[in-house]
Amino acid sequence: MAKNEYPFTLIPLPYDDDALEPYINEETMEVHHDRLLKAYVDRLNAVLAAYPQLQELTLTQMLENTAQLPPGVRQAIINFGGGVFNHNFFFESLRPGLYENNPIGSLRRAIDAEFGSYEMFRRVFKEEAMSVFGSGWLWLVRKDDGGLLLKRTANQDSPISLGYTPLTVIDVWEHAYFLQYLNLRGDYIDSWFHVVDWAKAEERYLMSP
Ligand code: MN
Repeated sequence: MAKNEYPFTLIPLPYDDDALEPYINEETMEVHHDRLLKAYVDRLNAVLAAYPQLQELTLTQMLENTAQLPPGVRQAIINFGGGVFNHNFFFESLRPGLYENNPIGSLRRAIDAEFGSYEMFRRVFKEEAMSVFGSGWLWLVRKDDGGLLLKRTANQDSPISLGYTPLTVIDVWEHAYFLQYLNLRGDYIDSWFHVVDWAKAEERYLMSP
């Protein structure tokens, strides 16, 4: 991830706003990145402005050790800092779509071992993403023991606060799909499978402790 310290800036998308068409349209990406992520960046900076000691920490350090944050700003950092981390991670997990888009290498073997097959993984992933109630995320994470897990998080909670290594993610907040798909979250999830960057997930899997 790019710059990870105060003052935080809006990291540009690693592709054009319309690069994920037709799976995620340009208008959705503009609003999601340029407006919603920007708002999280600004609000995180505003919270940290009064806490010089926290300005020395990376965002990852803050989110990995939320119990050590000052109680008065802990939830704000979980919300706004999580919003920054989760969105940057999400946007970096996508790339221009492929009709046939399958995981590769050792991550593919781990998915096959954990879920039986990629087809079964897709079915469980979609069910889990559909079952996120309200606003949240579904993550593919690596556990301490090396195994894979599908982990739901609510609001802007981040899996790094729970000790997991995230490999890839889908944002299922309504704002991630409503402009294009209205209330049809399932269609958006189907589209996500075409734009998820499995090479990036594989890279994270290989680098994970
Ligand atoms: Mn979002």
